Amino acid sequence: MDEFLPESIVKLRDLTRELTEAEISPRAAQVDKNACWPQHSMYTLADAGLLGLHVPKRFGGHEQGLLALAVIGETIANGCSSSALCYAMHCVGTAVITAKATPYHEDKYLKPIADNQHITTLALSELGTGAHFYVPQTKLQLQENEFIVNGKKQFVTNGNHANSYVISTVASSQKAEEGDFSCLMVDQGSEGIIWDEPWQGFGMRGNSSRAMQLNNVHVPTENLLGEEGDQIWYTFEVVAPYFLIAMAGTYIGLAQSALDIATNHIKNRHYSHSGETLADVPTLQYRLAEMHIALQKSRGLLYRAAYMGDIGDNQATKMILMAKADAADLAVNICNEAMTCCGGSAYRENSDLTRLLRDARAGHIMSPTTDLLKIWCGRLLLDLPLI
Ligand SMILES: Cc1cc2nc3c(=O)[nH]c(=O)nc-3n(C[C@H](O)[C@H](O)[C@H](O)COP(=O)(O)OP(=O)(O)OC[C@H]3O[C@@H](n4cnc5c(N)ncnc54)[C@H](O)[C@@H]3O)c2cc1C
Repeated sequence: MDEFLPESIVKLRDLTRELTEAEISPRAAQVDKNACWPQHSMYTLADAGLLGLHVPKRFGGHEQGLLALAVIGETIANGCSSSALCYAMHCVGTAVITAKATPYHEDKYLKPIADNQHITTLALSELGTGAHFYVPQTKLQLQENEFIVNGKKQFVTNGNHANSYVISTVASSQKAEEGDFSCLMVDQGSEGIIWDEPWQGFGMRGNSSRAMQLNNVHVPTENLLGEEGDQIWYTFEVVAPYFLIAMAGTYIGLAQSALDIATNHIKNRHYSHSGETLADVPTLQYRLAEMHIALQKSRGLLYRAAYMGDIGDNQATKMILMAKADAADLAVNICNEAMTCCGGSAYRENSDLTRLLRDARAGHIMSPTTDLLKIWCGRLLLDLPLI
């Protein structure tokens, strides 16, 4: 696909691939086994200057958009899905800050991110509203020149490891109605933040997801992103496209990893009674071809959707919704198929394919979930409003 990618993205991708192969992939099994935050991966990416992927060049960033996010996310996930998820959530948070940054946000967040000294992340989901991540119930109250925040966010990736958190709350105005909400920055270490125990996920075990209680947290009013009640704009214009493309890239990279394992196994598994390898078996040849076809189609859809998003094509939303729903389906299907091809050597505790299959299962339930994405996509195809 290199011929379709701008040189700047190919360069970033090659750098990421080098780091992934040397530093990130060798630690993936350990990250999963110990369910530990992939600090080494995040610091490696920071040292290589990759935290500012979406920060404007004038602040020292790469000023890249959705296509770069798809490609870089896919490349990291090819080595470690948890690391890709942690990096992805940082990138989505960065894109949200960048969208309407004030000089205060530029100095406090964007410059340190471009300087590779600051990790941010997205904390939207709440227990009460679950998959409906665009309906926060966390309260925001304006008191003199600061906001007081009360509520609880759950499943916060990079939980307790990021320097700042992009959160959503009900707008502070007394007249604010349900769905009228705001987006603001909460800094790590603010008094009143209490972290629940790390969530022991079935897969994506290194993402360090955990719930974040916000008990009377005082936040400067300057930390508000955009105007009060701007959140719908943020959710559908920034969070959704960046998050969906980041996740689609992650799950396609993960699928590629499973396919690589299967291809390698098929080539190298020898039968002593016949001298054949699995590569000589037509059923395996057929299965392998089917997996490759599916993956190439999904990658094509992802890159096209990301490119359309970057150029502001008016059909981009549909494509982006489809790309993430498709990538989640693909990752589960390819991991399942790869496991069938690899037989008993893969179907065991702690095999790489077992880990990938567990990681892949998060794709469907991460918001916007596959169910919601397909419903939204169907609605758009029928000229109905998204929600
Ligand atoms: C590994 C991982 C990392 C995460 N990281 C983050 C993060 O960094 N930040 C963050 O904010 N959140 C994060 N989340 C949360 C995630 O994005 C979802 O919001 C959350 O998992 C869904 O909430 P729930 O489990 O309560 O699902 P529920 O709301 O209980 O939904 C259960 C199922 O019902 C379906 N469903 C519900 N309502 C409808 C409907 N109206 N139509 C069709 N189907 C419906 C859903 O699609 C879903 O499949 C993470 C989740 C995971 C698994």
